[in-house]
Amino acid sequence: MRRRKTLKILLIIAGLFSLGFSARWNWWRLPKKGVAILMYHKIGLPPQNSKLKNLWVSPEKFARQMRYLQKKAIPVITFAEYYQLLQEKRVPVKAVIISFDDGYQDNYIEAFPVLKKYGFKAMFFLVSDTIGIVNQWHNPATEPHQKMLSPEQIKEMQAAGMEFGSHTLSHLNLNELSIEAANIQIAKSKPVLEQVLGKPVDIFAYPYGAGAYNPAVKQLVKPAGYKLAVGIKQAINMRGQEDLFALKRITVRGDENLFDFYLQITRGKNRL
Ligand SMILES: [Zn+2]
Repeated sequence: MRRRKTLKILLIIAGLFSLGFSARWNWWRLPKKGVAILMYHKIGLPPQNSKLKNLWVSPEKFARQMRYLQKKAIPVITFAEYYQLLQEKRVPVKAVIISFDDGYQDNYIEAFPVLKKYGFKAMFFLVSDTIGIVNQWHNPATEPHQKMLSPEQIKEMQAAGMEFGSHTLSHLNLNELSIEAANIQIAKSKPVLEQVLGKPVDIFAYPYGAGAYNPAVKQLVKPAGYKLAVGIKQAINMRGQEDLFALKRITVRGDENLFDFYLQITRGKNRL
């Protein structure tokens, strides 16, 4: 009698545990066919007083994630290749694109050597007004200003095959600007970056994802000369259902483990 009661309690505990596990790690979602675009910001250890700690991925974690992609032989493609595959309607069942927002100097110091080691090419979305200085748009009360990539570092990364895209002139929220001002942010950053890079800039990333889901802003991107644009909605870009000017991305957060990473790149989501 006593033993049956103990068994019952153990079963309830096991049931609660698996429910909790399945809510936190959504292993039960079905794998999706298409391209997972990873979104990173800063690679390094956050300043102690930072209120944005989850935008920092530790160098060890980043290296482990890249090693995982290589070990599992998951194809890592560039935006240039993705665009070509979309045009030819030959998007693979499974592929990953690695992207970094804002253009922090720690991307050069911490991520670039790892990317080179694994032979991966990544995209870096630059805020043209902040190249070589700090992230001025940023409220220093949430986190001290961070150093941004210099033109020399950008050139070196470009020579190694890295891609660069536009993340506007000054990282304003495009939904809070007049259409004219939003258009300047989108269109003017392109030639400024092309001057630095010496080649066309084809891909655009909306700061905060703002504008990707606002037709009045979104419709400005194609006429400005971009081929694709990325937002921040968390999902895989399913084959045949891609929104070319609001491609979905997967935020890689600093507090996630390798199981989260696996769920993200296969399902597009790791939690409820
Ligand atoms: Zn940004």
